[in-house]
Amino acid sequence: MSGPIDKSLRERAARVIPGGMYGHQSAASLPANYPQFFARAEGPWLWDVDGNRYLDFMCAYGPQLFGYAHPGIDAAYADQMRVGDAMTGPSALMVELAEAFTGMVSHATWAMFCKNGSDATTIALMAARAQTKRSAIVRATGAYHGAQPWSNPRPAGTSPGDRAGQHFCTYNDIASLEEAVGAAGDDLAAIFVSPFRHDTFQDQFLPTREFAQRCRDLANKTGALLIVDDVRGGFRVSRDCSWSIVGVEPDMSCWGKTIANGHPISAVLGSERARPGASSIFTTGSYWFAAAAMAASLATLKLIRETDYLERLNAMGDQLRAGLDERAKAHSFSIRQTGPSPMPQILFDDDPDYRVGYGWCSEMLKRGVYTHPWHNMFLSAAMTETEIAFALSAAEESFKALRASVNTLQPHAMFAKK
Ligand SMILES: *Cc1c(COP(=O)(O)O)cnc(C)c1O
Repeated sequence: MSGPIDKSLRERAARVIPGGMYGHQSAASLPANYPQFFARAEGPWLWDVDGNRYLDFMCAYGPQLFGYAHPGIDAAYADQMRVGDAMTGPSALMVELAEAFTGMVSHATWAMFCKNGSDATTIALMAARAQTKRSAIVRATGAYHGAQPWSNPRPAGTSPGDRAGQHFCTYNDIASLEEAVGAAGDDLAAIFVSPFRHDTFQDQFLPTREFAQRCRDLANKTGALLIVDDVRGGFRVSRDCSWSIVGVEPDMSCWGKTIANGHPISAVLGSERARPGASSIFTTGSYWFAAAAMAASLATLKLIRETDYLERLNAMGDQLRAGLDERAKAHSFSIRQTGPSPMPQILFDDDPDYRVGYGWCSEMLKRGVYTHPWHNMFLSAAMTETEIAFALSAAEESFKALRASVNTLQPHAMFAKK
């Protein structure tokens, strides 16, 4: 709960940080009792600066696949820090990590490393343009591919030129895909897709085989490259590229978030077809070759290969979903839980301005569970049945409290009619 320390930090931040906070880390778009600042995190738990503890279903907006402060992964990071991190050139770990990724992700025969997911999507875009000597792209309306000028979801600070040549389709809608590809004509460099629809404010759904295959066929036919942006879904859907579930291999895939359990590293993986473009571009960053995050990533990939984390995430996600459905019904709420079980999106029926969703999250927070009213959530492998039971008992109480107060709820400022 936002307490006195949080409040005072917000006041100080308002003076020295533009807008008080920026991007998705701003708590301004969340229910009023949500804290802005956190003090520490361990396993599935997160503590705010006022000492309140939460079971965290955001997992740092994705990265925490094995839970916060994972001893094995963090030891790999710390050990490498003592040996050498950001040096004048890369360490041997870079080759080892590229070998590990290409051994795990079927479509990939090469890897490039960077820091943020936005770096990875931008490198993939450049590599596709370099290879095809074309510039247009096709992407789905509402899909997030990062916060660079070309991909930023808001127009502020970008120019129309930054977004020139972007043609939009509707996810899973083959006719709209064909139309967008047609509009790009002989300038099409890439088809960009998220592995499933995980847009904010919306129900999530998986790709159809037909849509994925049509993306593949159209890329082949036009000479464009097919890019799957697995920055968010990567390793919570599959131990391979997420489109392995529909049997379609992209030319490149973008990775970040989970791949080092919170340590800063992202990646572009590609096939032989995409190698020439990737080999020809100039791309770099001061910290991209740092060895410690690579050591953390190697430790994370090993856990992905050798543990049953994915099966456990699915089992716990299913348990959470069934338990929430039951409790919502018991209190006469109708909720939609969509997406892969390890990445739930929970939206309320008949809630056009999301006020019921905000109300429920606010009640959950009071009971020590951090959920989100319109962004998909994440389970981590640090959660056990004990934590799921904790979440469900908080949910029971939250639905009950919400039932009592639902008629007095007001829309969040973000949705209040002007
Ligand atoms: C988070 C995200 C990005 C951008 O990653 P950053 O590390 O925030 O730059 C790109 N694509 C998707 C699908 C994401 O979820």
